[in-house]
Amino acid sequence: TRTYVVTGAASGIGATTVRLLQERGERTIGIDLRGADIDADLSTAEGRTAAVAQAIEASGGVIDGVIACAGISAPKPITMSVNYFGVTEVLEGLLPALRASDAPRAAVVSSMASLQPNSARLVEAALSGDEAATLAVAEDLIAQDPRAGRAAYPSSKRAISRWVRRESITENWAGAGIPLNAVAPGTVITPMTQELLNNPEGLALVDAHVPMPLNYHQPAESIATLLIWLTSVENTHMAGQTIYVDGGADATLRGDDI
Ligand code: NAD
Repeated sequence: TRTYVVTGAASGIGATTVRLLQERGERTIGIDLRGADIDADLSTAEGRTAAVAQAIEASGGVIDGVIACAGISAPKPITMSVNYFGVTEVLEGLLPALRASDAPRAAVVSSMASLQPNSARLVEAALSGDEAATLAVAEDLIAQDPRAGRAAYPSSKRAISRWVRRESITENWAGAGIPLNAVAPGTVITPMTQELLNNPEGLALVDAHVPMPLNYHQPAESIATLLIWLTSVENTHMAGQTIYVDGGADATLRGDDI
């Protein structure tokens, strides 16, 4: 039995990942705002520190897999806090317990939105590791143009995919024998998208931005099963990748850009 920490465990992709892991006989420790094993607000530094401490305690000091699913898509600065710092700081905080495993793995949920128009300033601010500066950049962009809030989500996902790429090959991860990768979904049917998909204008907008020629909108299982493989003992050599599991949206939008 392996021990997994899953953030965003109370809903959608995170909840499905927990269920599938448990069905396979693995042990899970869920983190979410409420309704998981550990209640914590990953938009704040204090919430992340508390979540990390409680997860390490609950695990007994050895964690085999970390799967970071918690995220929001609000057109607001807080989206950078949850989707970027709420991932990087939790992963880094759990490193001591991962290093205690004989087959440690980590995976995060990015998005095909990482390919959509975003703010290079916001992405660079996040990658500098300074959360206050990142939030200040976001506030500044929105003050100049209220529509700039829309850049928060794709910027948070571009930044987390780039962080995974940079970090995966460092001493912390590859050097410690820990594969670190991301999965980028297209449009997944979860509480995050349900309302949008239920109204005709929302649906048309989503489908215009996320073309999915293969099997259209996807169930959470299509993401959870890959997150589970990436964090299984079978994954020995994949590092730094963002894998698009998106019904062909990346291939459609980026075409030959490879
Ligand atoms: P969801 O809303 O069902 O689940 C997200 C979970 O994250 C919720 O349980 C929520 O409470 C938790 N969360 C949000 N803010 C938090 C905070 N401050 N602290 C702790 N937990 C917090 O949505 P989902 O679709 O399952 O999303 C999971 C991940 O997948 C997210 O990172 C999202 O950006 C990504 N994603 C989703 C889609 C989609 O179409 N649904 C597409 C691409 C990427």
